Amino acid sequence: MENNNQNKENSQNQGQKTPNQGNNAPRERRPNPHRQNNNNKPQNQGENSNRPNPNRKPNPNKKPNPSQDVNGNVQDKATPNGNKKPNPNQNRNNNNQNRNAGNNNQNRKPNNNKPGNKPNNNQNRNGGNNKNRGKRKNVTTVNDEMRKYLEINDKVKNDTMNPWKNIDMASKGKIRFTPLGGLGEIGGNMAVLETESTAIIIDVGMSFPDETMHGVDILVPDFSYLHTLKKEKDVYVIITHGHEDHIGAMPYLFKELQFPIYGTPLALAMIENKFNEHGLSQYTKNFNFVTMRKQHQIGDMKIEWMHNTHSIIDACSLAVETEVGTIIHTADFKVDHTPVDNYTMDLRRFAHYGEKGVLCLFSDSTNSHNPGATKSEKVVGKTFDTLFNLAKGRVIMSTFSSNVHRIVQAMERAVTHGRKICVIGRSMERNIETNRALGFVDIEDKHFIEVHEVPKYADHEILIVTTGSQGETMAALNRMATDEHRHIKLKPSDTVIISASAIPGNEASVSSLMNKLMKAGCTVRYKEFADIHVSGHAGQEEQKLILRLIQPKFFLPVHGEYNHIAKHARTAVECGVDERNILLMSDGDQIELTTKYLKKVKTVKSGKTYIDNQNNMTIENDVVLDRQKLAEDGIVNVVAQISQETQKMLGKPIISTHGLVPDKEDKKFQKEIEVMIETLLLNMKPEALKNHKDIENDIRNSIRKHVIRTKKRYPLIIPTIFIV
Ligand SMILES: [Zn+2]
Repeated sequence: MENNNQNKENSQNQGQKTPNQGNNAPRERRPNPHRQNNNNKPQNQGENSNRPNPNRKPNPNKKPNPSQDVNGNVQDKATPNGNKKPNPNQNRNNNNQNRNAGNNNQNRKPNNNKPGNKPNNNQNRNGGNNKNRGKRKNVTTVNDEMRKYLEINDKVKNDTMNPWKNIDMASKGKIRFTPLGGLGEIGGNMAVLETESTAIIIDVGMSFPDETMHGVDILVPDFSYLHTLKKEKDVYVIITHGHEDHIGAMPYLFKELQFPIYGTPLALAMIENKFNEHGLSQYTKNFNFVTMRKQHQIGDMKIEWMHNTHSIIDACSLAVETEVGTIIHTADFKVDHTPVDNYTMDLRRFAHYGEKGVLCLFSDSTNSHNPGATKSEKVVGKTFDTLFNLAKGRVIMSTFSSNVHRIVQAMERAVTHGRKICVIGRSMERNIETNRALGFVDIEDKHFIEVHEVPKYADHEILIVTTGSQGETMAALNRMATDEHRHIKLKPSDTVIISASAIPGNEASVSSLMNKLMKAGCTVRYKEFADIHVSGHAGQEEQKLILRLIQPKFFLPVHGEYNHIAKHARTAVECGVDERNILLMSDGDQIELTTKYLKKVKTVKSGKTYIDNQNNMTIENDVVLDRQKLAEDGIVNVVAQISQETQKMLGKPIISTHGLVPDKEDKKFQKEIEVMIETLLLNMKPEALKNHKDIENDIRNSIRKHVIRTKKRYPLIIPTIFIV
């Protein structure tokens, strides 16, 4: 996919900025190995380049058209396209007759000499005349009329291959697309699509910190660019579905900026829950519920929500009609032909837009390394049948609280096996409540019990549905495993089903949870049953289906780290998208899109804000940086009194360290520092003692150099100096 072929148009405005420039987040200081630099990504994929596309196979039936380039742009007839190779097959049809005639029996070995062969009726009919053996009676004759229809159908097939050519190429419009989260990472999805006067923010998601971000619970995207946008354009928030990595940052955005919000009822209900929790319930007045399959005029765009299948109910892809052409954004999806609620992905709408011609497709890259297709959610139900049959005692099932179809499948098994259902865990309870209120969970009240009622029933009459499938320490399942749960004490007869896979980064905590559950003697059902969990994201075959239904001119793989989007780009090339019309982006990249080109025009500020979930407050960057220093290099504290008169220390300084030198070396280290300060004071000009801040800085620098030299560490150094 790499394309270093830059033309002048590409290189302008690209500057030397790195994608994260302008972002002061600590992340910058500790480069995230997952965040890759895509210096080699394809640059401007416009139509000026003459590079032939190696993936575009010549159509053997198509005569070369010297007046058209690959983008369908008619060129001057006087300049034939030097890149088009002559098509050696172009005379195929003309030669058909000869070929058929000439081929007769050339490759066929006569078999009438083999023993046991039945006599050949043809030969008998021909009177056994060997001279006629080369002239089969039923040879296909390609006459002029047949040839005409072969050519007509070839043309029809050819025309269906690039429906984007139906787009009005003369359109003068321009749109810009800027991912502010979700590229170069999994999660934290947020992107802006804008015309001259309108900007839509597609999803406002959160992501999880890495292990160096101590005390940080979640990350939300940097909203700086949205502050700029608000001054210039009409801005709207467009929600595709209710997953945390698509709506989790909404309260934090609305504390800074408010916009009208559009989405399906479940997604907005889940945002409402968040707003209530953050004391923002007044902003539910910004809600606009959408109707699927209907175009909503939002600013100067027409937006349609198209139902898709994903690991949450009411998930949608977007079709955005703009002046410049139609944009399709799949958002998160898979193609489940047998979904639990029978509402399949609305592929007919995808086909409808594809047929009309789509300028650009943005598609989910999360599972782009997975060959084949992701399995239907229904297979998990079959696994539950097996597991419920095997379980003798209580069944405790844990999954993502938003995966309501998964939860419903477990609940339905509970009902058929005569088990009462107890839902435990704040987010699980809230999600089930919301989905029941909206009619997505159709299980009668009588099947549910409260947690304190569990002991009233026999073990084989209980299903507990709970949170904590990622090993989260505060979640109910972990508290049960550590015997800290107020109501539920684990028993060796319990079967714990973990119906999830560890999100990258959570493997260790899931493993630790498994250890605790197994130590408690429970039967843990996890990965040994292949279909205990299925993904909600499309594998390669599903990605191909969407690529072929839409067959866009331009393609932007979204949602994923660099390796995911690069793989998705290769799949797109296999599906006939010109590789020059694909761009691999990072957060903060802004691209401009017209009917003629797709190119990066600038980089806007992007990055992450740290959130402490205990108080829903922001943690400033410097706090996280200090924590990183403390955790990795320790701290040195120095308190000293210095006489201005004698320029010497009064008494011994108090020197303490944590996380830097072992206790037994404390005295030695203190002496070194003391001598160092004495030397520093001896060589100091008297006027330097006028300002204790200056002298603190001098002492800090000296200690820093000493520690780097002797210990190769960079501790936090805090000198406190009193000048008397
Ligand atoms: Zn999702």
